[in-house]
Amino acid sequence: MTTPHTATFTRLARRYAVLAITTVCTLLAALVTAPLFATAAAADGPLFNYGPSDADAIAVQSGVYDHTGGPGTPQWYDHTNLTVAVFAPPNTDPQMVAAIHQGIATWHRFLADRLPIVSLTDVTNDASRRGSADIVVHYAPHAGGVVWGGNAICGYQHCSNVVVKSEEPPGGPYPDFDPIRLLRMTVHEVGHALGLGHATPLLESRDVMAYGWVHYAVDPTTGKYTYVYRTPILSDCDLRGIAATFEWALKGQAPHPATVSSIDC
Ligand SMILES: [Zn+2]
Repeated sequence: MTTPHTATFTRLARRYAVLAITTVCTLLAALVTAPLFATAAAADGPLFNYGPSDADAIAVQSGVYDHTGGPGTPQWYDHTNLTVAVFAPPNTDPQMVAAIHQGIATWHRFLADRLPIVSLTDVTNDASRRGSADIVVHYAPHAGGVVWGGNAICGYQHCSNVVVKSEEPPGGPYPDFDPIRLLRMTVHEVGHALGLGHATPLLESRDVMAYGWVHYAVDPTTGKYTYVYRTPILSDCDLRGIAATFEWALKGQAPHPATVSSIDC
């Protein structure tokens, strides 16, 4: 979360500082510097690759800010059985909502397999629990305009304003997101909600917590953009970052924020 964005990233990459915000993510846009539109068709593989990260490091959000317990206290959790709920407008495309749930399920499975002391349970359909979910994902199709694609606003012991979108402004150069893009972006944003910052190098790494798994290419004749995907890595390093967030649980200690701000990959 401390990575400065480069000049080529200014369209979308902006960071905000708002009360209790630990992440405003602008997951999108590495402009392909020498665009070759003929090769720009999305070349995609599996939804995710799993294993070692190609990143140098991944930021750990918990503990990198002042965490004195008062207003503006940064995100961290004093429990490990996290819940998440998805809220979407009525009449939303069910494919898109399903993609968001699949993104959450991806984390659910990954944690259950690899870091079972931390759990993430989708309680969207549990009326008694969804109102108090630790993490709330809002699907706001047109949110963000041209500025961002995903946005995770987290506070003390909760992350109640994770926003994902899919629709780009009509008439602009950018195509809408498809469900796979939305699913992957959900994994990225929920990764923030779980305590991860960004992986570096931000624009090049394919780690799901970086931006290098999606680039733009521009058609020089129309000025229209197309996305160029590379399969993101849901990485061992992501997992280590979350383990740092929940260090207290792993060590049997009283709950406390992470004691490191970054994990070397
Ligand atoms: Zn992000």
